[in-house]
Amino acid sequence: MHFVTHASCRICLSVISFAVLCSTVSSQSKTERAFANSVSTPRLLGQVRDLVRFGSRTGGTRSGDKAVSYLVEQFRKAGFTPVVEKDPKRLAYELKNWSLKVQSPPSLRNLVRNEWVGAYSPSVPNTTASLVYLHQPENAPSIGLKNKALLIDAAVSNKTYRRLAEAGVLCLLLTSPNLEGAYSDWAMISDLPESEKNLIPLFNLSRNNGLRLKKVLMDSVEVILNFSVRSAIDSGSPKTVIATLKGESERYFLICAHGDSDSGGPGADDNASGVSAVLETARILQALVKNGRIPRPKFSLRFAIWGTEIYSTEHFVRRHADEVANIHGVLNLDEVGTGATRNCIYFESNDVGYNAHLLRTLEAVGEEFVGKRGYWSESTTNPSQGGTDSYVFFPRYLARLKLPELEIPAITIYTGAWNELKALQQTPGWSSKAWKGHPDTVYVDYSAYYHSSLDVPATTTEKEPFNMSGAVKALGIGLLRLAW
Ligand SMILES: [Zn+2]
Repeated sequence: MHFVTHASCRICLSVISFAVLCSTVSSQSKTERAFANSVSTPRLLGQVRDLVRFGSRTGGTRSGDKAVSYLVEQFRKAGFTPVVEKDPKRLAYELKNWSLKVQSPPSLRNLVRNEWVGAYSPSVPNTTASLVYLHQPENAPSIGLKNKALLIDAAVSNKTYRRLAEAGVLCLLLTSPNLEGAYSDWAMISDLPESEKNLIPLFNLSRNNGLRLKKVLMDSVEVILNFSVRSAIDSGSPKTVIATLKGESERYFLICAHGDSDSGGPGADDNASGVSAVLETARILQALVKNGRIPRPKFSLRFAIWGTEIYSTEHFVRRHADEVANIHGVLNLDEVGTGATRNCIYFESNDVGYNAHLLRTLEAVGEEFVGKRGYWSESTTNPSQGGTDSYVFFPRYLARLKLPELEIPAITIYTGAWNELKALQQTPGWSSKAWKGHPDTVYVDYSAYYHSSLDVPATTTEKEPFNMSGAVKALGIGLLRLAW
Protein backbone atom coordinates (compact mmCIF):
# COMPACT_ATOMS: atom_id res chain seq x y z
CA MET A 1 0.00 0.00 0.00
CA HIS A 2 2.59 2.43 1.05
CA PHE A 3 4.73 1.37 -1.82
CA VAL A 4 1.93 1.99 -4.37
CA THR A 5 1.05 5.40 -3.00
CA HIS A 6 4.64 6.35 -2.93
CA ALA A 7 5.21 5.11 -6.48
CA SER A 8 2.18 6.90 -7.89
CA CYS A 9 3.19 10.05 -6.14
CA ARG A 10 6.57 9.87 -7.70
CA ILE A 11 4.96 9.41 -11.10
CA CYS A 12 2.66 12.38 -10.50
CA LEU A 13 5.57 14.47 -9.36
CA SER A 14 7.60 13.41 -12.35
CA VAL A 15 4.81 14.39 -14.72
CA ILE A 16 4.40 17.76 -13.05
CA SER A 17 8.11 18.47 -12.92
CA PHE A 18 8.47 17.35 -16.53
CA ALA A 19 5.72 19.81 -17.54
CA VAL A 20 7.32 22.60 -15.50
CA LEU A 21 10.69 21.76 -16.96
CA CYS A 22 9.28 21.75 -20.51
CA SER A 23 7.62 25.12 -20.11
CA THR A 24 10.76 26.61 -18.51
CA VAL A 25 12.99 25.24 -21.22
CA SER A 26 10.74 26.33 -24.07
CA SER A 27 10.05 29.84 -22.74
CA GLN A 28 13.72 30.26 -21.95
CA SER A 29 14.83 29.21 -25.41
CA LYS A 30 12.09 31.37 -26.96
CA THR A 31 13.50 34.42 -25.19
CA GLU A 32 17.00 33.45 -26.16
CA ARG A 33 15.89 33.00 -29.75
CA ALA A 34 14.21 36.39 -29.67
CA PHE A 35 17.45 37.89 -28.37
CA ALA A 36 19.61 36.16 -30.98
CA ASN A 37 17.23 37.12 -33.80
CA SER A 38 17.44 40.78 -32.77
CA VAL A 39 21.22 40.99 -33.13
CA SER A 40 21.92 43.33 -36.02
CA THR A 41 25.25 42.80 -37.76
CA PRO A 42 24.90 45.97 -39.89
CA ARG A 43 24.35 47.97 -36.70
CA LEU A 44 27.35 46.35 -34.98
CA LEU A 45 29.55 47.14 -37.98
CA GLY A 46 28.19 50.66 -38.40
CA GLN A 47 28.94 51.53 -34.77
CA VAL A 48 32.56 50.40 -35.18
CA ARG A 49 32.93 52.53 -38.31
CA ASP A 50 31.40 55.53 -36.51
CA LEU A 51 33.71 55.17 -33.52
CA VAL A 52 36.88 54.73 -35.59
CA ARG A 53 35.99 57.93 -37.47
CA PHE A 54 36.37 59.91 -34.22
CA GLY A 55 40.08 59.01 -34.04
CA SER A 56 41.68 57.00 -31.26
CA ARG A 57 39.03 58.08 -28.67
CA THR A 58 41.69 58.56 -26.00
CA GLY A 59 40.05 59.54 -22.70
CA GLY A 60 40.33 63.25 -21.95
CA THR A 61 40.87 64.36 -25.56
CA ARG A 62 38.50 65.92 -28.09
CA SER A 63 38.43 62.61 -29.90
CA GLY A 64 37.45 60.85 -26.67
CA ASP A 65 34.75 63.45 -25.95
CA LYS A 66 33.26 63.01 -29.43
CA ALA A 67 33.00 59.27 -28.79
CA VAL A 68 31.34 59.97 -25.41
CA SER A 69 28.65 62.18 -27.04
CA TYR A 70 28.03 59.46 -29.59
CA LEU A 71 27.68 56.77 -26.91
CA VAL A 72 25.27 58.94 -24.90
CA GLU A 73 23.16 59.39 -28.02
CA GLN A 74 23.18 55.65 -28.82
CA PHE A 75 22.13 54.70 -25.28
CA ARG A 76 19.38 57.35 -25.37
CA LYS A 77 18.06 56.01 -28.66
CA ALA A 78 17.94 52.59 -27.04
CA GLY A 79 15.69 53.94 -24.25
CA PHE A 80 18.28 54.48 -21.51
CA THR A 81 19.07 57.56 -19.44
CA PRO A 82 22.86 57.35 -19.53
CA VAL A 83 25.10 59.20 -17.11
CA VAL A 84 28.61 60.47 -17.80
CA GLU A 85 31.15 60.14 -14.99
CA LYS A 86 34.35 62.20 -15.12
CA ASP A 87 37.70 60.93 -13.91
CA PRO A 88 40.43 63.15 -12.44
CA LYS A 89 42.48 64.89 -15.10
CA ARG A 90 45.49 63.15 -16.56
CA LEU A 91 47.88 63.76 -19.42
CA ALA A 92 46.35 62.60 -22.69
CA TYR A 93 47.55 62.43 -26.26
CA GLU A 94 45.69 63.32 -29.41
CA LEU A 95 47.21 62.88 -32.85
CA LYS A 96 45.70 65.46 -35.20
CA ASN A 97 47.56 64.93 -38.43
CA TRP A 98 50.97 63.93 -39.64
CA SER A 99 53.00 63.16 -42.73
CA LEU A 100 56.02 61.03 -43.51
CA LYS A 101 57.46 60.74 -47.01
CA VAL A 102 60.62 59.53 -48.63
CA GLN A 103 61.79 62.36 -50.86
CA SER A 104 64.84 60.62 -52.19
CA PRO A 105 65.66 58.17 -53.73
CA PRO A 106 62.61 58.65 -56.01
CA SER A 107 62.10 54.87 -56.22
CA LEU A 108 60.97 54.91 -52.57
CA ARG A 109 58.56 57.84 -52.82
CA ASN A 110 55.52 55.60 -52.35
CA LEU A 111 57.10 53.48 -49.64
CA VAL A 112 55.24 54.92 -46.66
CA ARG A 113 51.72 53.51 -46.53
CA ASN A 114 50.75 51.89 -43.25
CA GLU A 115 53.10 53.61 -40.85
CA TRP A 116 51.89 55.37 -37.67
CA VAL A 117 53.02 58.01 -35.17
CA GLY A 118 53.87 56.90 -31.63
CA ALA A 119 51.75 58.45 -28.88
CA TYR A 120 53.28 61.45 -27.11
CA SER A 121 55.15 62.50 -30.24
CA PRO A 122 55.33 66.32 -30.12
CA SER A 123 54.18 68.62 -32.90
CA VAL A 124 56.95 69.37 -35.38
CA PRO A 125 56.74 71.55 -38.49
CA ASN A 126 57.44 70.21 -41.94
CA THR A 127 61.05 69.02 -41.72
CA THR A 128 63.53 67.52 -44.15
CA ALA A 129 66.29 65.25 -42.89
CA SER A 130 68.72 62.66 -44.07
CA LEU A 131 68.21 59.17 -42.58
CA VAL A 132 70.87 57.19 -40.76
CA TYR A 133 70.68 53.69 -39.30
CA LEU A 134 71.92 53.02 -35.79
CA HIS A 135 72.44 49.48 -34.58
CA GLN A 136 71.95 49.08 -30.81
CA PRO A 137 71.38 52.76 -30.04
CA GLU A 138 71.45 52.12 -26.27
CA ASN A 139 75.25 51.84 -26.32
CA ALA A 140 76.16 53.73 -29.49
CA PRO A 141 77.79 57.17 -29.32
CA SER A 142 75.58 59.97 -30.55
CA ILE A 143 78.18 61.92 -32.49
CA GLY A 144 77.31 62.76 -36.06
CA LEU A 145 73.57 62.44 -35.46
CA LYS A 146 72.76 66.16 -35.43
CA ASN A 147 69.88 67.04 -37.78
CA LYS A 148 69.45 63.42 -38.82
CA ALA A 149 66.42 61.15 -38.85
CA LEU A 150 67.32 57.92 -37.10
CA LEU A 151 66.28 54.40 -38.12
CA ILE A 152 66.31 51.87 -35.26
CA ASP A 153 65.31 48.17 -34.95
CA ALA A 154 64.13 48.09 -31.36
CA ALA A 155 62.43 50.49 -28.96
CA VAL A 156 64.83 52.54 -26.84
CA SER A 157 64.74 53.38 -23.13
CA ASN A 158 63.49 56.81 -22.03
CA LYS A 159 67.06 57.73 -21.16
CA THR A 160 68.38 56.87 -24.64
CA TYR A 161 65.45 58.69 -26.25
CA ARG A 162 66.42 61.87 -24.33
CA ARG A 163 70.09 61.46 -25.15
CA LEU A 164 69.39 61.06 -28.87
CA ALA A 165 67.03 64.05 -28.93
CA GLU A 166 69.58 66.19 -27.10
CA ALA A 167 72.26 65.11 -29.59
CA GLY A 168 70.16 66.76 -32.29
CA VAL A 169 68.35 63.77 -33.82
CA LEU A 170 65.19 65.13 -35.50
CA CYS A 171 62.97 62.04 -35.40
CA LEU A 172 63.05 58.29 -34.78
CA LEU A 173 61.86 55.62 -37.21
CA LEU A 174 61.28 52.31 -35.49
CA THR A 175 60.99 49.04 -37.42
CA SER A 176 58.18 46.72 -36.27
CA PRO A 177 59.22 43.46 -34.61
CA ASN A 178 59.63 40.22 -36.50
CA LEU A 179 56.45 38.24 -35.83
CA GLU A 180 55.11 35.48 -37.98
CA GLY A 181 51.59 36.73 -38.57
CA ALA A 182 51.74 40.46 -37.91
CA TYR A 183 53.29 43.79 -38.90
CA SER A 184 54.90 42.69 -42.18
CA ASP A 185 53.26 45.53 -44.13
CA TRP A 186 51.69 47.52 -41.34
CA ALA A 187 53.18 49.12 -38.25
CA MET A 188 52.97 48.03 -34.65
CA ILE A 189 52.33 51.16 -32.61
CA SER A 190 54.79 51.84 -29.83
CA ASP A 191 54.79 55.02 -27.76
CA LEU A 192 57.12 57.63 -26.38
CA PRO A 193 57.27 58.43 -22.64
CA GLU A 194 53.98 59.93 -21.36
CA SER A 195 55.21 63.51 -21.28
CA GLU A 196 54.49 66.92 -22.77
CA LYS A 197 58.22 67.60 -22.89
CA ASN A 198 59.23 65.10 -25.58
CA LEU A 199 61.47 66.79 -28.13
CA ILE A 200 61.20 64.62 -31.24
CA PRO A 201 58.53 62.39 -32.80
CA LEU A 202 58.56 58.65 -33.25
CA PHE A 203 57.34 57.04 -36.46
CA ASN A 204 56.51 53.34 -36.37
CA LEU A 205 57.40 51.52 -39.60
CA SER A 206 56.13 48.23 -40.93
CA ARG A 207 58.63 45.40 -40.72
CA ASN A 208 59.19 45.28 -44.49
CA ASN A 209 59.62 49.03 -44.87
CA GLY A 210 62.10 49.12 -42.01
CA LEU A 211 64.14 46.34 -43.63
CA ARG A 212 63.93 48.01 -47.03
CA LEU A 213 65.23 51.34 -45.72
CA LYS A 214 67.99 49.62 -43.79
CA LYS A 215 69.11 47.77 -46.91
CA VAL A 216 69.16 50.96 -48.98
CA LEU A 217 71.25 52.70 -46.31
CA MET A 218 73.63 49.73 -46.11
CA ASP A 219 74.12 50.13 -49.87
CA SER A 220 75.26 53.71 -49.14
CA VAL A 221 72.31 55.32 -50.86
CA GLU A 222 71.27 58.60 -49.26
CA VAL A 223 67.68 58.62 -48.00
CA ILE A 224 66.01 62.01 -47.52
CA LEU A 225 62.80 62.15 -45.54
CA ASN A 226 60.12 64.74 -45.16
CA PHE A 227 57.89 64.70 -42.09
CA SER A 228 55.57 66.67 -39.83
CA VAL A 229 53.36 66.00 -36.82
CA ARG A 230 50.49 68.00 -35.34
CA SER A 231 49.38 66.71 -31.97
CA ALA A 232 47.91 67.87 -28.65
CA ILE A 233 49.41 66.79 -25.32
CA ASP A 234 47.17 68.21 -22.60
CA SER A 235 45.62 67.09 -19.38
CA GLY A 236 41.96 66.18 -19.62
CA SER A 237 39.28 64.15 -17.85
CA PRO A 238 38.49 60.75 -19.31
CA LYS A 239 34.72 60.20 -19.25
CA THR A 240 32.85 56.97 -18.70
CA VAL A 241 29.32 56.45 -19.99
CA ILE A 242 27.00 54.30 -17.85
CA ALA A 243 23.51 53.12 -18.73
CA THR A 244 21.40 51.10 -16.30
CA LEU A 245 18.61 48.61 -16.87
CA LYS A 246 17.01 48.45 -13.45
CA GLY A 247 16.22 45.06 -12.01
CA GLU A 248 14.38 43.95 -8.88
CA SER A 249 17.58 44.10 -6.86
CA GLU A 250 20.21 46.73 -6.19
CA ARG A 251 22.76 44.04 -6.90
CA TYR A 252 23.98 44.33 -10.46
CA PHE A 253 25.96 42.88 -13.29
CA LEU A 254 28.48 45.28 -14.80
CA ILE A 255 28.82 44.80 -18.56
CA CYS A 256 31.73 46.87 -19.83
CA ALA A 257 34.31 47.65 -22.49
CA HIS A 258 37.13 50.20 -22.78
CA GLY A 259 36.11 52.99 -25.12
CA ASP A 260 39.59 54.20 -26.07
CA SER A 261 42.04 52.72 -28.53
CA ASP A 262 44.76 52.21 -25.95
CA SER A 263 47.47 51.93 -28.63
CA GLY A 264 46.58 55.38 -29.99
CA GLY A 265 45.80 53.79 -33.37
CA PRO A 266 42.43 53.32 -35.08
CA GLY A 267 41.43 50.56 -32.63
CA ALA A 268 38.57 48.94 -34.57
CA ASP A 269 39.02 45.54 -32.96
CA ASP A 270 40.68 46.93 -29.81
CA ASN A 271 38.21 48.06 -28.75
CA ALA A 272 35.45 49.60 -30.87
CA SER A 273 34.29 45.99 -31.35
CA GLY A 274 33.76 45.52 -27.61
CA VAL A 275 32.00 48.88 -27.31
CA SER A 276 29.69 48.07 -30.19
CA ALA A 277 28.87 44.67 -28.69
CA VAL A 278 27.97 46.22 -25.32
CA LEU A 279 25.74 48.83 -27.02
CA GLU A 280 23.95 46.15 -29.04
CA THR A 281 23.38 43.88 -26.02
CA ALA A 282 22.01 46.81 -24.01
CA ARG A 283 19.71 47.86 -26.84
CA ILE A 284 18.19 44.40 -27.33
CA LEU A 285 17.68 43.60 -23.64
CA GLN A 286 16.07 47.01 -23.03
CA ALA A 287 13.74 46.47 -26.03
CA LEU A 288 12.74 42.98 -24.84
CA VAL A 289 11.85 44.38 -21.41
CA LYS A 290 10.01 47.42 -22.84
CA ASN A 291 7.98 45.27 -25.23
CA GLY A 292 6.98 42.96 -22.40
CA ARG A 293 8.74 39.99 -23.98
CA ILE A 294 10.64 39.45 -20.73
CA PRO A 295 10.07 40.80 -17.22
CA ARG A 296 12.51 43.14 -15.50
CA PRO A 297 15.67 41.27 -14.58
CA LYS A 298 16.17 40.02 -11.05
CA PHE A 299 19.56 41.75 -10.93
CA SER A 300 20.14 45.20 -12.39
CA LEU A 301 22.37 45.54 -15.43
CA ARG A 302 24.85 48.39 -15.72
CA PHE A 303 26.47 48.92 -19.08
CA ALA A 304 29.70 50.93 -18.88
CA ILE A 305 32.05 52.24 -21.56
CA TRP A 306 35.31 53.26 -19.89
CA GLY A 307 36.93 56.52 -21.01
CA THR A 308 40.43 55.09 -20.59
CA GLU A 309 41.26 51.42 -20.16
CA ILE A 310 42.17 50.52 -16.54
CA TYR A 311 42.42 54.17 -15.39
CA SER A 312 38.67 54.83 -15.70
CA THR A 313 37.83 51.41 -14.26
CA GLU A 314 40.00 52.15 -11.22
CA HIS A 315 38.30 55.49 -10.74
CA PHE A 316 34.85 53.93 -11.13
CA VAL A 317 35.69 51.49 -8.34
CA ARG A 318 37.00 54.34 -6.19
CA ARG A 319 33.94 56.56 -6.81
CA HIS A 320 31.55 53.70 -6.12
CA ALA A 321 33.53 52.25 -3.21
CA ASP A 322 30.43 52.17 -0.98
CA GLU A 323 28.49 49.98 -3.40
CA VAL A 324 31.16 47.86 -5.07
CA ALA A 325 29.88 45.02 -2.86
CA ASN A 326 26.64 45.17 -4.89
CA ILE A 327 28.40 44.02 -8.05
CA HIS A 328 27.14 40.52 -8.73
CA GLY A 329 29.52 39.97 -11.63
CA VAL A 330 31.63 41.82 -14.21
CA LEU A 331 31.50 40.87 -17.89
CA ASN A 332 34.16 42.77 -19.80
CA LEU A 333 34.45 42.76 -23.59
CA ASP A 334 37.86 43.41 -25.11
CA GLU A 335 38.63 42.56 -28.75
CA VAL A 336 35.63 40.69 -30.12
CA GLY A 337 36.18 41.74 -33.74
CA THR A 338 38.71 39.31 -35.17
CA GLY A 339 40.72 36.13 -34.68
CA ALA A 340 43.63 35.16 -36.94
CA THR A 341 43.48 31.37 -36.79
CA ARG A 342 40.12 30.18 -35.47
CA ASN A 343 36.47 31.16 -35.00
CA CYS A 344 36.46 30.73 -31.23
CA ILE A 345 34.86 32.64 -28.39
CA TYR A 346 36.84 32.77 -25.15
CA PHE A 347 35.70 33.41 -21.58
CA GLU A 348 38.63 34.34 -19.36
CA SER A 349 39.70 33.68 -15.76
CA ASN A 350 38.62 30.13 -15.00
CA ASP A 351 41.51 29.85 -12.53
CA VAL A 352 39.52 32.08 -10.15
CA GLY A 353 37.29 29.83 -8.05
CA TYR A 354 34.47 32.30 -7.44
CA ASN A 355 34.12 32.91 -11.22
CA ALA A 356 32.75 29.36 -11.55
CA HIS A 357 29.01 30.15 -11.68
CA LEU A 358 29.44 32.90 -14.24
CA LEU A 359 31.85 30.91 -16.40
CA ARG A 360 29.94 27.61 -16.17
CA THR A 361 26.89 29.47 -17.48
CA LEU A 362 28.83 30.94 -20.42
CA GLU A 363 30.61 27.65 -21.05
CA ALA A 364 27.21 25.95 -21.33
CA VAL A 365 26.07 28.59 -23.82
CA GLY A 366 29.31 28.06 -25.74
CA GLU A 367 28.80 24.30 -25.86
CA GLU A 368 25.09 24.45 -26.68
CA PHE A 369 25.40 26.70 -29.72
CA VAL A 370 28.77 25.59 -31.09
CA GLY A 371 28.68 24.87 -34.81
CA LYS A 372 25.13 26.25 -35.20
CA ARG A 373 24.51 28.75 -37.96
CA GLY A 374 25.33 32.29 -36.82
CA TYR A 375 27.40 31.08 -33.87
CA TRP A 376 31.03 30.14 -33.18
CA SER A 377 32.86 27.00 -34.34
CA GLU A 378 34.67 26.66 -31.00
CA SER A 379 34.36 28.03 -27.50
CA THR A 380 36.30 27.67 -24.29
CA THR A 381 37.10 29.26 -20.98
CA ASN A 382 40.76 29.98 -20.19
CA PRO A 383 42.97 31.00 -17.26
CA SER A 384 43.81 34.61 -16.40
CA GLN A 385 46.14 36.56 -18.68
CA GLY A 386 45.72 40.06 -17.25
CA GLY A 387 45.93 43.33 -19.12
CA THR A 388 42.29 44.32 -19.31
CA ASP A 389 39.57 45.95 -17.23
CA SER A 390 38.13 42.86 -15.53
CA TYR A 391 41.35 42.58 -13.50
CA VAL A 392 40.67 45.84 -11.67
CA PHE A 393 37.92 43.96 -9.78
CA PHE A 394 40.28 41.27 -8.47
CA PRO A 395 40.86 41.34 -4.67
CA ARG A 396 44.59 42.05 -5.11
CA TYR A 397 43.86 45.03 -7.31
CA LEU A 398 41.11 46.34 -4.98
CA ALA A 399 43.63 46.14 -2.13
CA ARG A 400 46.02 48.32 -4.14
CA LEU A 401 43.22 50.86 -4.39
CA LYS A 402 42.84 50.58 -0.59
CA LEU A 403 39.43 48.95 -0.91
CA PRO A 404 38.19 45.79 0.83
CA GLU A 405 39.39 42.64 -0.92
CA LEU A 406 35.98 41.52 -2.18
CA GLU A 407 35.58 38.44 -4.34
CA ILE A 408 33.65 39.90 -7.26
CA PRO A 409 33.26 37.47 -10.16
CA ALA A 410 34.97 39.23 -13.09
CA ILE A 411 35.56 37.79 -16.54
CA THR A 412 36.54 38.93 -20.04
CA ILE A 413 34.92 37.81 -23.28
CA TYR A 414 37.06 38.01 -26.44
CA THR A 415 37.77 36.36 -29.77
CA GLY A 416 41.47 37.25 -30.11
CA ALA A 417 44.15 38.78 -27.88
CA TRP A 418 47.78 39.95 -28.36
CA ASN A 419 49.73 39.74 -31.62
CA GLU A 420 50.73 36.09 -31.74
CA LEU A 421 49.29 32.72 -30.81
CA LYS A 422 49.71 31.88 -27.13
CA ALA A 423 49.44 28.41 -25.62
CA LEU A 424 48.04 28.25 -22.09
CA GLN A 425 47.77 25.26 -19.82
CA GLN A 426 44.04 24.69 -19.33
CA THR A 427 42.82 24.91 -15.73
CA PRO A 428 42.00 21.37 -14.53
CA GLY A 429 38.27 20.62 -14.82
CA TRP A 430 37.65 23.29 -17.45
CA SER A 431 38.26 21.64 -20.80
CA SER A 432 35.30 22.59 -22.95
CA LYS A 433 33.31 20.18 -25.11
CA ALA A 434 33.29 22.93 -27.72
CA TRP A 435 37.12 23.09 -27.93
CA LYS A 436 38.63 21.25 -30.88
CA GLY A 437 42.22 21.10 -29.71
CA HIS A 438 43.91 19.03 -27.01
CA PRO A 439 41.84 19.33 -23.81
CA ASP A 440 44.86 20.35 -21.69
CA THR A 441 45.95 23.29 -23.84
CA VAL A 442 44.12 26.46 -24.84
CA TYR A 443 45.48 28.29 -27.85
CA VAL A 444 44.60 31.92 -27.41
CA ASP A 445 43.87 33.24 -30.87
CA TYR A 446 45.41 36.59 -31.79
CA SER A 447 44.81 39.65 -33.95
CA ALA A 448 47.27 40.19 -36.81
CA TYR A 449 46.39 43.89 -36.45
CA TYR A 450 46.80 44.16 -32.67
CA HIS A 451 47.92 47.69 -31.67
CA SER A 452 48.69 48.54 -35.27
CA SER A 453 48.00 51.11 -37.96
CA LEU A 454 45.71 48.57 -39.67
CA ASP A 455 43.41 47.80 -36.76
CA VAL A 456 40.69 49.26 -38.97
CA PRO A 457 37.18 47.97 -39.80
CA ALA A 458 38.19 46.63 -43.25
CA THR A 459 40.78 44.20 -41.86
CA THR A 460 38.90 43.13 -38.71
CA THR A 461 35.18 43.67 -38.03
CA GLU A 462 34.08 43.98 -41.67
CA LYS A 463 36.10 40.93 -42.65
CA GLU A 464 34.79 38.71 -39.84
CA PRO A 465 31.50 40.19 -38.63
CA PHE A 466 30.54 36.84 -37.07
CA ASN A 467 32.95 37.50 -34.19
CA MET A 468 31.01 40.50 -32.90
CA SER A 469 27.56 39.03 -33.47
CA GLY A 470 28.69 35.80 -31.77
CA ALA A 471 30.01 37.72 -28.77
CA VAL A 472 26.70 39.61 -28.44
CA LYS A 473 24.75 36.34 -28.58
CA ALA A 474 26.97 34.66 -25.98
CA LEU A 475 26.77 37.70 -23.71
CA GLY A 476 23.01 38.23 -24.15
CA ILE A 477 22.03 34.58 -23.71
CA GLY A 478 24.42 34.31 -20.78
CA LEU A 479 22.81 37.36 -19.13
CA LEU A 480 19.30 35.98 -19.73
CA ARG A 481 20.39 32.92 -17.74
CA LEU A 482 22.31 34.80 -15.07
CA ALA A 483 20.30 37.94 -14.35
CA TRP A 484 16.65 36.82 -14.76
ZN1 LIG B 1 41.82 46.22 -25.34
